[in-house]
Amino acid sequence: MAHRNPETDHKSEPPALNAYRSEHGQLLVWCVYERRWHFHGGCEGPGTADGHRGAHCIEVTPYRKTGYYIREVGPFTPVIRRRRGR
Ligand SMILES: [Zn+2]
Repeated sequence: MAHRNPETDHKSEPPALNAYRSEHGQLLVWCVYERRWHFHGGCEGPGTADGHRGAHCIEVTPYRKTGYYIREVGPFTPVIRRRRGR
């Protein structure tokens, strides 16, 4: 498993994506296919919104087929914004 990329190495299983909480309580996940952030509702507090989500992709991407799991890992910061979800 060491060489797998959980963001893209999925044929049928939903990938697991890191999510970052904005100051407005939304969770942001980086879409590697569309190269933009997707916003999801963040629920009550850290970790409470983790789980499977339907993809917010506008283009036809692999995420559209499977959705993805989001896992909140921390606040959305300018550094994270530049690193784009990695
Ligand atoms: Zn997308």
